[in-house]
Amino acid sequence: MSGPVLYLDGVSVVFDGFRALNALSLTIDAGELRAIIGPNGAGKTTMMDVITGKTRPTAGTVRFHEHDLTKLDEATIANLGIGRKFQKPTVFDALTVFENLELALKAPRGPIACLRWVLSGESRRRIEATLDEIGLTARAHDRAGLLSHGQRQWLEIGMLLMQDPELLLVDEPVAGMTDQETEHTAALLVRIAGRRSVVVVEHDLEFVRALGSKVTVLCEGAMLSEGSIDHVQNDPKVIDVYLGR
Ligand code: ADP
Repeated sequence: MSGPVLYLDGVSVVFDGFRALNALSLTIDAGELRAIIGPNGAGKTTMMDVITGKTRPTAGTVRFHEHDLTKLDEATIANLGIGRKFQKPTVFDALTVFENLELALKAPRGPIACLRWVLSGESRRRIEATLDEIGLTARAHDRAGLLSHGQRQWLEIGMLLMQDPELLLVDEPVAGMTDQETEHTAALLVRIAGRRSVVVVEHDLEFVRALGSKVTVLCEGAMLSEGSIDHVQNDPKVIDVYLGR
């Protein structure tokens, strides 16, 4: 895959005179994995909100393929194939891991009407492939409420995968995870990217290093630096922002 999927150009968001985003420009290619880092208040969440239609930009262009996202509502944008994982996992504790994935497959982008149905062979194969991908095959028939924090995060990523997004936005996936869970999560996101584009907002720089992806550093609503983790970590502007204050 090649070519841009997501295109932001000169995007500003002003809240009561405060510029949360300040002429931000960013391009995400098909199949790309991109990490977004930056200090608190840099505008990372606002950027995700603008892409998903939760916040309207005050100025600028936001395009997903040929679609102008600034003119579409959140549900329409989700239906175009943009999935978002928030920091706190939303899985159904009383259902098994398998049933959670089944639910996400059956009611991907609309109301959940019915929890019981006969699964086609094709659906079962998709769920089993996702269980394998997220590393929860052995837990398929355990209730989600019994999973560890990390496993719940992977299950929610799996539920998003059942909805077949072309672009996956992931907000601080490894907060609160053990080192081993963090490694598993990095490997999972690396596997997912390639077939889909994945944008990950994260504070944990060791995790970002493990992703091995291009990194964008945001500061005061604009791009401060971009490149490999080594490049941005050695950029004097980034050092100044992280250590100089
Ligand atoms: P980050 O996710 O990088 O920590 P945010 O995007 O949450 O940063 O916030 C960027 C700035 O915009 C912060 O200073 C925040 O206080 C401000 N902000 C975010 N949302 C709103 C809002 N709805 N109203 C006013 N200010 C906001």
